[in-house]
Amino acid sequence: MTDHNRQSDKELYRTLDLNEDADQEEIAQQFRRLQLLYQPESLESAADRAYAAQKLAEIEEAYEILGDPARRAIYDGKPAPIVVGHDGEPESLTCANHPDRETLLRCNKCGKPICIDCAVRTPVGYRCNQCVREQQSIYFNALGRDNIVALVVGFALTVVVAPIVGFLLGRIGLFFGFFIAFIIGSGAGTLVARIIRRAVGNRRGRNLPYMALAGIILGVAPGAFVIFILFGPLPFLMLLLFAGLAIASAFPQLR
Ligand SMILES: [Zn+2]
Ligand SMILES: [Zn+2]
Repeated sequence: MTDHNRQSDKELYRTLDLNEDADQEEIAQQFRRLQLLYQPESLESAADRAYAAQKLAEIEEAYEILGDPARRAIYDGKPAPIVVGHDGEPESLTCANHPDRETLLRCNKCGKPICIDCAVRTPVGYRCNQCVREQQSIYFNALGRDNIVALVVGFALTVVVAPIVGFLLGRIGLFFGFFIAFIIGSGAGTLVARIIRRAVGNRRGRNLPYMALAGIILGVAPGAFVIFILFGPLPFLMLLLFAGLAIASAFPQLR
C-alpha cells in the first residue's frame, strides 16, 4: 500500500487508499484493483482468507458510497447533485429496498435512494432505517446492568423518602399539605432523576426510564400503604399528589 493519503480523515477514502479529490474514474479503477488484490480464494491459510474477506467487504462497502457520485457528495458533506437524464428532466431513482418504486428522495446521511415508505422523518431530515438504527445504537449506550441499577436506586430512594414525606405532609395539615406537596413534587422528581442518571453513569437506554419508573412506583407503594393505614386518606392523597408530580417530572429527564 502507498501512503500518499495518510492525512485524510475520511475513513472510506482510506479504505480505498485514495485522495479525497480522486475523480470517479480513479475511484472505479482503484476499486477493481483492490478487489483483485483481496481475492480470498487465492490464499493458502484460513487466517489470510478471513482477513482478505474482511478487507473485501470493507472495500465493497466503501465503493458502494464513493462509487455513486450522489452518495459520495453527501458523504463529503456537499449537497447531492440532481442527476439529469437525456431529456433534461431530473432522473428518478429507484428505492434501495423496493426496486419497483421510483423516488426522488435520498437518505441525507448515506445518500441511498429511498421511497417515502422507507424514509424515516428525523429532526435532521429524511433518513433510511439503517442510518436511524445506527444513530440510535450510538445514542443508547447503556450497559446491561444499568437497567437493574436504575430500578434499585429508584426503589431505594423512594422507599425511604415516601413515608417521611407522607408523614410530614399529614402533620402540616389539609390546605398547606396539598400546597406544599404541589410545590415540592416536581423538584423532588428532578432530584431523583439526577441521582438515578448519575448512578448509571449518565448513559441512556431504551428501557432505562421504564425500569427507573418501576423502581420508583414499587418504592412509593409500601410508604403510601403505611401512611393510609396509620394516618388515613388525606395524607395518603397528599403523598400520591407529591409522588405523581415527582414521577411526571422525573420520567422525561430519564429518557
Ligand atoms: Zn441512510
Ligand atoms: Zn422503499
